Amino acid sequence: MKSQSILLINPPVYDFAAYDLWAKPLGLLYLSSILKQQNINVNLFDYMDRFYDNENKFSEYIYPKKSSNEYGCGHYIKKEIPKPEIIRNIKRKYYRFGIPEEQAEQFFLNIKNTSKPDMIIVASIMTYWYLGVVEVSELLRNIFPDVPIVLGGVYATLCEEHAKTLSGITDVVSGGLVNFNSVFKKYNFDVEIDCDFKKFPAPDYSFYKKKEYVALKTSVGCPFKCSYCAQYVLNKNGYSVKSPLVIKQEIESLVSYSKTLNPQPSAVVNNIAFYDDALLFNSNNSIKVLLKEFIKENKKFYFHTPNGLHARFVDDELAELMFNAKFVKPRFSLETSNAEEQKNSNNKVSNKEYERTINLLQKAGYKQGEYVTYLLMGMPGQSVENVRESIKYVHSLGSIISLSEYSPIPYTKDWQTLDEKFKQDPLTQNNTFFISLNKDYEKLQELKLFAKELNKLVDIQTINR
Ligand code: SF4
Repeated sequence: MKSQSILLINPPVYDFAAYDLWAKPLGLLYLSSILKQQNINVNLFDYMDRFYDNENKFSEYIYPKKSSNEYGCGHYIKKEIPKPEIIRNIKRKYYRFGIPEEQAEQFFLNIKNTSKPDMIIVASIMTYWYLGVVEVSELLRNIFPDVPIVLGGVYATLCEEHAKTLSGITDVVSGGLVNFNSVFKKYNFDVEIDCDFKKFPAPDYSFYKKKEYVALKTSVGCPFKCSYCAQYVLNKNGYSVKSPLVIKQEIESLVSYSKTLNPQPSAVVNNIAFYDDALLFNSNNSIKVLLKEFIKENKKFYFHTPNGLHARFVDDELAELMFNAKFVKPRFSLETSNAEEQKNSNNKVSNKEYERTINLLQKAGYKQGEYVTYLLMGMPGQSVENVRESIKYVHSLGSIISLSEYSPIPYTKDWQTLDEKFKQDPLTQNNTFFISLNKDYEKLQELKLFAKELNKLVDIQTINR
């Protein structure tokens, strides 16, 4: 009997800006491994794969001049497109990022002839990226008119009702991977996903021809509930962490797999990005054990933490392990140095804890400019002065400042305080749109330049350890 087949798709991104900061569609990669374990034929098309096929250049696309930085991050292919009506007043160019439509269509037509799917699963990430889902579902509906197209992921979870209005999508799955069980049952797939992250296999990287990094999670969930974050909706089963020795095996298998695909020594993957929400939580039983193993075996990896770390959980042993295992420019989430704003958003870290951590990092060997701190600007009710003070404070402790524009997220505490206009069309949840309506917009833009200038004073570009 022919085994059933599922096509997984990570759509293109429609936004003012996008950058590959070790970004992979991890939900799909875990799902692929789970499906393969249960004898499902899987194909995956990731529109955001920067190395898919850049030989055939399309004239309306802008191709990045440099492929990647030394840690595997880089710019996507992009094409300028007209701004949607609702955000047309923003004075910035709007782009479609990712593999050109023509190449995607060719891939799907090949699949149709060689391994036609019985189900298509489309992932969605940012709520305000849903135009990528629209593009994909229209294309797929034409090529595969009789195949169910199931949408899951962040947008599908946080904007379920909106997602249900998109044409071409057959089913919307809100919540984590375990909620796909109902659609598998509905379409007679012999598949069952266990809701416990600990039992998930390693993410499946077999579809990528070239990789310069591996991203994965050691855990899902977070013990906090910040006023601007919806992780508690996205991870309804709470915090769950895999055994550090299992993670070690996962990393080793992903790296060795990559080596066979990239035989040139220069292409060996040694950049590992952790996409946990709370990587350092409960560290004695998790990350510390893992790092000790890698240090003992003298593994030459660089570790990256794009999601931001909790300064509260760092102790002297952990700071030393991070330094010796080569956490490159570890990123800490402070968001604001204003005590009142910290308290209002759920007290995930205080200035005292943050300063203690910076001291421990420096004691462990990190120099000024070798660690990064995330700050938020444009939070509801946040004054320009508080943002400026936060920038100065973080700089005074020798950190690179990474300033993020606030974007409103459904189901958060902040969401309840927002104007109705952000609740109709998810495009208005775009950070660039939200901050453009701030009465202090110009001053906030000046603060970006201010932070950039300060960063130049401490930035160290390369780790030479
Ligand atoms: S600590 Fe981070 S992941 Fe956890 S709730 Fe706050 S913002 Fe979200």
